[in-house]
Amino acid sequence: MKTKRRPVPAPAGGFVDMHCHSTASDGELSPSLVVQRAAEARLTGLILTDHDTVAGCQEAAAAAVKHGIDFLPGVELSCEYPRPGTMHLLGYGVDPNSPTLSRMNEQLQEGRTDRNARIIEQMQVAGLNITMAEVLAEAQGTVGRPHIAKVLLHKGYVGTIKEAFDRYLGQGGKFYQDKERLTATQAIGMVHDAGGVAVLAHPVQLRRENLAQLASVIKDLADVGLDGVEIIHSDHRESLIAELQEMAARYGLLCTGGSDFHGKSKSHIKLGWAGRRRIGREYFDGVVRAVARRRAVVEVGSP
Ligand code: AMP
Ligand code: ZN
Ligand code: FE
Ligand code: FE
Repeated sequence: MKTKRRPVPAPAGGFVDMHCHSTASDGELSPSLVVQRAAEARLTGLILTDHDTVAGCQEAAAAAVKHGIDFLPGVELSCEYPRPGTMHLLGYGVDPNSPTLSRMNEQLQEGRTDRNARIIEQMQVAGLNITMAEVLAEAQGTVGRPHIAKVLLHKGYVGTIKEAFDRYLGQGGKFYQDKERLTATQAIGMVHDAGGVAVLAHPVQLRRENLAQLASVIKDLADVGLDGVEIIHSDHRESLIAELQEMAARYGLLCTGGSDFHGKSKSHIKLGWAGRRRIGREYFDGVVRAVARRRAVVEVGSP
């Protein structure tokens, strides 16, 4: 006999999403539309985390007020890290008007402009018909490889965005070029300076060989000021979530969760969902408290 599965009741505070992208970087939806999507998904809290920029946060914050959703500004920063892994740090609760953040933004955008130009040049040398103007036309904010991938897709050089990364743009791809990155210590320092807390995004992408190596990277980051770990993410399996939760507890770190929603370019990811999991409100509240504590220390003056 089949047993009927009871629906899992929503936790008192509901669900949130603490990792998503808008047109301010490589997402498909404007910041207000991301918030509208969050409202449709009945989320109670949202953090926008565009690559290298907080430019979408003001618009998102205004939309969040309209929809009655709690909102924190955020940013996602790429850090120096040995191949084949990538290290991304989330800055949660940063002050969008922080001068440190705007300086960093300027520097990282310059690094991107330089890297994007090198990629296009290599493609042109190889005989591909692609120009920087076409790439810029795809972007409204931070310009990156996803925008180059879209041009390749529209021109029929590839059949999917994934193919563009696999063959041309990803590590090991024909036209891969690295860009200027911050060290993890620099990125954590900047997030703190901007009043935020620093969280390691999708640790699976560090591509460590085993859990002991992963734990050692997380411990080293905790030693230089890391505040939290994104345990729930669309790329994380259940077993990894449990391991990460344990590591976070061991090193006194916050746990967070997010979908890494981008819109159509990653159509398998839905806002508010990480695979079949949702992200409980307690993770958002934990970050809100950590940001408040950090700001209080700054205001009172640390010794
Ligand atoms: P960039 O920051 O310009 O170097 O581009 C990196 C971004 O490209 C990542 O944050 C992802 O959003 C996207 N990306 C990386 N690999 C892939 C892939 N295989 N398929 C689709 N998008 C990807
Ligand atoms: Zn992205
Ligand atoms: Fe990322
Ligand atoms: Fe992301």
